Amino acid sequence: MTAVEVPAVRRLADWSAPSLRELADEYGTPLYVQDLDRVRENYDRLADAFPDARVHYAVKANAGQRVLETLREAGAGAECASAGEVSRALEAGFEPSAIHYTAVNPPARDLEYVLDAAPAATVVAGATDTVDRLADRGFDGRLAVRVHPRVGAGHSEDVATGADAKFGIPRDRAAAALRDAAARGFDVVGIHAHAGSGMLTAADVAAHREVVERLAAVAREAPVDLEFVDVGGGFGVPYRPAEAPLDLGALADATRDALAGVDADLVVEPGRFLVADAGVLLTAVNTVKRTAGPTLAGVDAGMTTLLRPALYDAHHEVRSLARDAGDRPQRDVTVVGPICESTDVLAADRRLPRPERGDVLAVGNAGAYGIEMASQYNSRPRPAVVALADGGDELARERESLADLAAHEHGGPADQ
Ligand SMILES: *Cc1c(COP(=O)(O)O)cnc(C)c1O
Repeated sequence: MTAVEVPAVRRLADWSAPSLRELADEYGTPLYVQDLDRVRENYDRLADAFPDARVHYAVKANAGQRVLETLREAGAGAECASAGEVSRALEAGFEPSAIHYTAVNPPARDLEYVLDAAPAATVVAGATDTVDRLADRGFDGRLAVRVHPRVGAGHSEDVATGADAKFGIPRDRAAAALRDAAARGFDVVGIHAHAGSGMLTAADVAAHREVVERLAAVAREAPVDLEFVDVGGGFGVPYRPAEAPLDLGALADATRDALAGVDADLVVEPGRFLVADAGVLLTAVNTVKRTAGPTLAGVDAGMTTLLRPALYDAHHEVRSLARDAGDRPQRDVTVVGPICESTDVLAADRRLPRPERGDVLAVGNAGAYGIEMASQYNSRPRPAVVALADGGDELARERESLADLAAHEHGGPADQ
């Protein structure tokens, strides 16, 4: 395979300001822009670093139809966490056999939907209780066991407790779970672990290697022949300009080394890595307020548009797309949304060109966990999404209307 000559990261500064301004003019704000060509590049970079691996895209990062189609056409499978994600993957043309359904405390209606609509999917069970529920429903198809990968600092045994224990079966019980499932007639095909998100540094790669080593130990002692070992996703992207991109080569080497002697296919299931830097959020300044501290730029996107800053204190770069941005004095600016919550802050204390009403701001790395986490809280319709491909642009998702807000309510004017 030849080396792929594409940049390891697309920074917010790399996007064309005039093009983004035009999109904001044409489609309005707030607006998500998703560049499908960049999604494809990210897939190619990953496939290049992991030439022998099967790539299953973690749909929860961005389940937009065009994104799913792009990754399916590139050769990816789909990793789905709910009936809804399986349904969207099927609609985007994924073969049921290319779908992994990761069942985390699955509601009964999710199990019933998936077993009916995609019986050839691989179900990844994170509890023996889930295996029982699959058996109760007569499922004897492809099953993988999710292994809880972590050990506590200084301990040699699994010490998963509390909320963290909900993901997976403890390592020391994985072999028994595999044996039991095989004895009950399931087609036991793999083991899986997903340790977390946002791997970026050499230390993160070292931690990932430990997780894969633990998984490899389970694989070597597995009582059945495994078709695959799925090491999960969590491949990070640099959200801050000073951060370097993930060293994919080092990650691939660490993964390969950790799996030495394991005779099974490698599966990776990244979400964020494939779509984050392919997306930006455009938002317009509607209010400028001077304070004793930073200047407040009130914008039309808030925590209901992009939840990550409010939910995780996540950092997203912000850039002014004003035509004369370069000529304006720099100010300390805090970018706040229109939601009645004090956590509705997209970016705090940034050096930015002095904001003016009507400016369009771009928010970087918004392609992952952006539109997917959007809500209608404060009765705010969700934003539109425009897809870029082959030099053109196309509306991929309509902006919701005020009528959409009450579309499922009973007893309102619509019922009368
Ligand atoms: C969320 C998730 C992923 C993807 O995580 P990223 O950080 O977006 O790569 C992969 N696998 C499972 C099981 C997940 O829950």
